[in-house]
Amino acid sequence: MTHVIHRNPKANYPVAASGEGPYIIDDAGKKYFDAGDAAVSCLGHSNDSVAKAMKAQIDSISFTHSGFFTNPAMEGLATFLAGKAPGDLNHVFFVSGGSEAVESALKLARQYFLEKGEPSRTRFISRRQSYHGNTLGALSAGGNLWRREPFAPLLLPVDLISPCYEYRGRRDDETDWEFGQRTADELEAALMAQGPENICAFICEPVVGATLGAVPAVAGYFTRIREICDQYGVLFIADEVMCGMGRTGSLFAVEQENIVPDILVMAKGLGAGYQPIGAMMCTDEIYNAIVDGSGFFQHGHTYLGHPVACAGALAVQQYIEDNDLLSNVQLRGQQLREGLMARFGNNACVGDIRGRGLFQGMEIVADRLTKEPLDPALKVHVKIKAAAMDEGLMCYPMGGTIDGHRGDHVLLAPPFIVDESHVDEVVSKLGRAVDAVLQSVKA
Ligand code: PMP
Repeated sequence: MTHVIHRNPKANYPVAASGEGPYIIDDAGKKYFDAGDAAVSCLGHSNDSVAKAMKAQIDSISFTHSGFFTNPAMEGLATFLAGKAPGDLNHVFFVSGGSEAVESALKLARQYFLEKGEPSRTRFISRRQSYHGNTLGALSAGGNLWRREPFAPLLLPVDLISPCYEYRGRRDDETDWEFGQRTADELEAALMAQGPENICAFICEPVVGATLGAVPAVAGYFTRIREICDQYGVLFIADEVMCGMGRTGSLFAVEQENIVPDILVMAKGLGAGYQPIGAMMCTDEIYNAIVDGSGFFQHGHTYLGHPVACAGALAVQQYIEDNDLLSNVQLRGQQLREGLMARFGNNACVGDIRGRGLFQGMEIVADRLTKEPLDPALKVHVKIKAAAMDEGLMCYPMGGTIDGHRGDHVLLAPPFIVDESHVDEVVSKLGRAVDAVLQSVKA
């Protein structure tokens, strides 16, 4: 009997006994290729230089509270991130994960407008079929009705607009560009409906991860979003918890959109799972408003800037840089995309293959010609996850009814250290798993 409150207490989880590069090995000795632990383990599971850096930090000091001291690991990681981030995202606030990073962003946005003397700006706008975390503020910002519903009376008021989801959103009579502009203009319409003077910020993922399965925006969408935010004085928060820190082939996903958000949040790949860590970055304008205003950011947690977490994350980022792993993400991402196209491109039940870098997704449908989704009662995504585990592959399928959208997709996020044969292994294992499930469903 377990005393752990598992998320799904009825599930029979295998026991992870050890990790070796891109593999997790269970207590029966079975190996699973880790291409889907929610895009966390970007260096795989046994990186020596990260372990050494963490050990060295523990040997010197394991914990300092941010109310008393700063520490070199936190300062070093902040300097690294500020040096790499686009524009003047020069200021970093460290937390323990993605939801905390999003909470910090929402509160910073609110405090910024208080400092500026615009107290009426209290509302947020986000997108349908999105996920920004499970704490109450972050959950409020997400557009996943299934997750929100039980807690709806406890949530902040948030207005939802459409995601930039070309596969299902673009009309036949419009180009990608026109679709992107029309979809971005929904932000302006939402601002006008509430009154821009009441809106704090717009939040979205530059490449949508869990809820849609690696969906980048079409060209021009984010330029128009930035323009609208600037025009109405609304902050733009980029949630790069899943798509950031190299996952899409650039350290920050927004680099590929040529825009600078006002606030950027990250987690997962930042520490690559070696320690729980997340971060929020903001521009000089926001930071200075706080420093020159009340002089105090009214937020924080005990483990803010934890030295071991920061030392581990800095070692992760240095390893990525020293080994030029972003080039590998681009190269192997291309191979993964081509492999998926070759294996599934003619499959009548694969409607769309999309993504950037080592962040690729495919949408499973009843009929690729009509794009008709599979019946959610079939729980195809659950079956694909189980069949892939049988094959020795961890992938990240999602599905069911998310905010009115029915669909199943599979997200793949292999580690940045993969070589050619690893990518082939992922595609062939996924191929066998998907074939088996589709055959059983059709039967
Ligand atoms: N934002 C995004 C885009 C995410 O994908 C996630 C986690 N899947 C979160 C926020 C929340 O992060 P965490 O689970 O670390 O709290």
